[in-house]
Amino acid sequence: MILREALQSATQTLRTAGIADASVEAELLLGHVLGISRTQLYTEPERSLTSVEAEHLWRLVRRRLDHEPAAYILGRCEFYGIDFYIDYHTFIPRPETELLVEKAVELAQRISHREEQITIADIGTGCGAIAVSLALALPQAKIYATDVSASALQVAEMNCRRHGVNSQVELLLGNLLEQLPQPVDMIVANLPYIKDCEFKDLSPEIRKFEPTMALAGGEDGLDKIQQMLEQMPGKLSYGACFLLEIGQGQGGMVTSLIKSYFPQASIELISDLGGIERVVKVGL
Ligand code: SAM
Ligand code: GLN
Repeated sequence: MILREALQSATQTLRTAGIADASVEAELLLGHVLGISRTQLYTEPERSLTSVEAEHLWRLVRRRLDHEPAAYILGRCEFYGIDFYIDYHTFIPRPETELLVEKAVELAQRISHREEQITIADIGTGCGAIAVSLALALPQAKIYATDVSASALQVAEMNCRRHGVNSQVELLLGNLLEQLPQPVDMIVANLPYIKDCEFKDLSPEIRKFEPTMALAGGEDGLDKIQQMLEQMPGKLSYGACFLLEIGQGQGGMVTSLIKSYFPQASIELISDLGGIERVVKVGL
């Protein structure tokens, strides 16, 4: 079989099974098998696949048909223009979380005119996507990155080494803010915020494969956010701020929750490109 036929056939198989973006996904799988980029696929369409390559492709297609996300099959995903190693122990970073990073970078650049090094904590770091992105964008910042999952932290450590930020990012195993060794200037967090009742409606890609611990936010989705607010006294330096990612429709409830802990806080809700309130920015 030649490359063009393999691509057409994999695309058709994925499309027939109802997999969205079937042609992109087929390109990713075939590119992975051949060790070439998606664009390179189109420079040698007549190349023959060996039987080993063809079998490998069909094994990967079968995994995708079983709804395994491509990021786990490939062991990688791109976030904020950076390549991250990913496995089953970690949540797959989402494009909408790039807004959280963008806003954190803007804010950090504004407040880091002070003499001292700015300190930032990424709470629930998973594969380290937010922490590594911040470290690369803000080379003067000291970043703490926490998670309750030791295996997720191992993945985060690999990503920190891979991107040369392992001395800038300190990984801490523990519940939310508990292990932070000093008050920080900024907290950034994409904590689990899926409501119990929403689980059944998640796609099988998420429900069957991603760690429940990374998603489950309790009855109203806000359990982890509330626990973190409770832990904040003593963990933030004077004039600190925090940014949280939230789910669709949670803006009002999160605002009231924050006001109940910090009545003086200035709170701004920032919408993503789809018009969904996605980031809460809080100044204290
Ligand atoms: N920050 C990554 C990102 O944005 O791609 C991962 C976000 S994922 C939605 C939430 C993360 O929070 C998971 O890695 C999960 O293990 C972690 N987590 C859940 N409960 C936690 C807790 N009590 N303390 C620290 N981390 C927690
Ligand atoms: N945005 C993710 C999803 O819809 C949920 C992320 C989270 O719980 N923090 O799958």
